[in-house]
Amino acid sequence: MSTRIEGRVLRRGDYRYESRRREACWHAGVPDRYPEVIVLANNEDDVVAAVRLAREEGLQIAVRSGGHSWSGSHLRDGTVLIDLSNLRHVTVDREAMTGTAQPGIKGSELNAMVAEQNLFFPTGHCTGVSIGGYLLQGGFGWAGRDYGPACMSVTGIDVVTASGERVHADETQNADLFWAARGAGPGFFAVVTRFYVKLYPRMRVTMNSGYFWPASAAQDVYRFVHEIGRQTPTEINLLCCRDPMTDGAPLISLNATAFTDTEEEAREQLSIYESCPARPHVITTRLNEVTDTETLSRYGTDPHYDETKHYLADSMWTHASFDDLWPNFEAMLKTWPPAPSHLVVFNWGGYEGQPERPSMAYSVEDELYYGLYAAWTDPADSRTYTNWVTNHMRAWEPYASGIQLADENLINRPYRFVTDENLQRLDVLRAGWDPDGLFVSWLGRPEPRTAAVDTKDSPVAGPSE
Ligand SMILES: Cc1cc2nc3c(=O)[nH]c(=O)nc-3n(C[C@H](O)[C@H](O)[C@H](O)COP(=O)(O)OP(=O)(O)OC[C@H]3O[C@@H](n4cnc5c(N)ncnc54)[C@H](O)[C@@H]3O)c2cc1C
Repeated sequence: MSTRIEGRVLRRGDYRYESRRREACWHAGVPDRYPEVIVLANNEDDVVAAVRLAREEGLQIAVRSGGHSWSGSHLRDGTVLIDLSNLRHVTVDREAMTGTAQPGIKGSELNAMVAEQNLFFPTGHCTGVSIGGYLLQGGFGWAGRDYGPACMSVTGIDVVTASGERVHADETQNADLFWAARGAGPGFFAVVTRFYVKLYPRMRVTMNSGYFWPASAAQDVYRFVHEIGRQTPTEINLLCCRDPMTDGAPLISLNATAFTDTEEEAREQLSIYESCPARPHVITTRLNEVTDTETLSRYGTDPHYDETKHYLADSMWTHASFDDLWPNFEAMLKTWPPAPSHLVVFNWGGYEGQPERPSMAYSVEDELYYGLYAAWTDPADSRTYTNWVTNHMRAWEPYASGIQLADENLINRPYRFVTDENLQRLDVLRAGWDPDGLFVSWLGRPEPRTAAVDTKDSPVAGPSE
């Protein structure tokens, strides 16, 4: 068995090991977990060799594509960390509207490449996120309500399995592995070295409107978003963050984006925000701007993600009324952490244009998505902000139908991220594909569902197996 590796191999204690370990995590809150070996793979053969190396040395395997896991789920003790950031090859077939992409490419880079051919792929809302982890955990992206989670646009994968074999998986070959790869996220039990994807015609018009309120308008704004979120075809990004515009107090910004064929249609779609009951109290607006997703990411989303800070994220899917969520939100407003800590709410499920879900591991969705992110500078504050996020999300559990692995806090608050049936099936598949438990799994694991919300009512609960 050859374990010759063309890329760099860094062992604990080696010069550059620690800096590389730290660089493997996108933010400053690098966990105290130490891989035994870091393999910077140059190609697929290196991945095979790294899997063999782990077996030979009796180590487990963790995988990194872009290192944007909030919890640093790829940094694990007793592992070979296979770092795929150099696997960045992309192909685009304009005629067939398909492509292939390796996991180290960033979503924003992929979208710039397909845009050159007037095509589109539903990549994430931030510039820096690589597609490897993003697609495996679902993929909550631009125009995602039109295309579903981005993993729905994956048609096949090339993987290196726990036995060191290179296999292809899609709907017809190794279909169970393909099923798992669309939603297992950090619990996937093989290394994906290439994704095969569907591409879409690029929308002619992307138009955005922004409204900014003081926190005193919160109830009216959030209630309005809960009421219209499901019906409107526009994509809502409702964000609460301390801001200079409100002298450092929490500011509520509603950004709505229309993806349409004509400017007239986009304006018509965005006109609904003029009927928000809080409209008279708005501090400022930015209405009907023709733009593109790259600009929206760069100036709208990215400023909230500062790699020099420590971060903790958590999340929930919900279809609760805002009145049920308000008491916890009101308490949060009184203790809001410093910028760029924020709460973001997106409308997602239950509207007419939504595509049908295929059978896949990804199986928990709902009308609205809440993501909560604390950011801090001093490591001494870690406990305070970890508790702040975890306890406030725990307070909302009676109204949550699940979380998204994109923003998981499983180590502190294990919560349902796929249906119970799908979790069981993932366990069975893992036992088959990785019988020796070579691949590490999720950092925490939810108990079978007991929460108070009856998700049978959820309009968008996905299929289970
Ligand atoms: C600033 C920021 C913005 C974000 N915005 C969005 C967003 O808009 N939408 C959204 O859906 N998510 C978003 N996320 C979450 C992000 O998609 C996930 O954290 C995702 O895992 C990041 O991908 P990555 O390749 O960097 O993952 P990594 O951190 O490299 O890996 C995370 C885990 O995924 C698994 N994994 C990664 N690559 C592979 C592979 N090739 N083969 C097998 N397993 C693999 C491993 O188990 C690993 O532990 C954001 C995160 C951050 C930090």
